[in-house]
Amino acid sequence: MCPVCGQEVESIYHALFKCVGAKNVWELWEECPMVIGTENMDFSNLALKMLECGTPRDMELLIVVAWAIWCSRNLRVFEMVCQGADQVWNHAISMLFDFREAVKFCGLGPLACEVRWKKPQVGVFKINTDGATEVDGRWSSIGVVIRDSRGEVAATLCRVLPGCFSVDETEALAIEARIILVRELDLHQVIVELDSLLVVHQILAKDFNGGLGHIVHGISGFLEGFHS
Ligand SMILES: [Zn+2]
Repeated sequence: MCPVCGQEVESIYHALFKCVGAKNVWELWEECPMVIGTENMDFSNLALKMLECGTPRDMELLIVVAWAIWCSRNLRVFEMVCQGADQVWNHAISMLFDFREAVKFCGLGPLACEVRWKKPQVGVFKINTDGATEVDGRWSSIGVVIRDSRGEVAATLCRVLPGCFSVDETEALAIEARIILVRELDLHQVIVELDSLLVVHQILAKDFNGGLGHIVHGISGFLEGFHS
């Protein structure tokens, strides 16, 4: 019997997709391109189905969230530690984010790999984002991770954008998404780490011209609500 719900015989599929704790986590994936957990199939068939109807990013998310659910199941069964669906989801998003950042840095060579993420001061939150643009015309996507002074994940956001955007547009939309998230969470002291100098310059100069103009205009409007 499943040691988590006690309702069904435990199988890999049950533990990762059908068990009540797992279902609550999958429900947090707002833009999931397929329904997960309704039919019995093994993991590889489910992954193949995801490849058919989703993007490679959806596939990554499927695998990482399934891994986070499995880790959470083990914590509960062997260490009597219960995690909420939000915690499991945030853990998955932050793992994915860290992986993408590591890949990005390692692609830049050994010197870049020596750059370390530094914790912010007590009371301050640090925000990192990742924007991804596919070269084959598939829709772009963004990820946001907010961490506190202990390095713990406070919030995450993962979103597929409604279209295929340029690298700078994707970065600008990621900045906009994180500002909205910071406002929703009512965080007052934040450090923002950005990848795109072009976008930073345009925001600081309040330059609303060019392809990024409308996004930069939106960001400037949001930023007016902050003191610094
Ligand atoms: Zn169960």
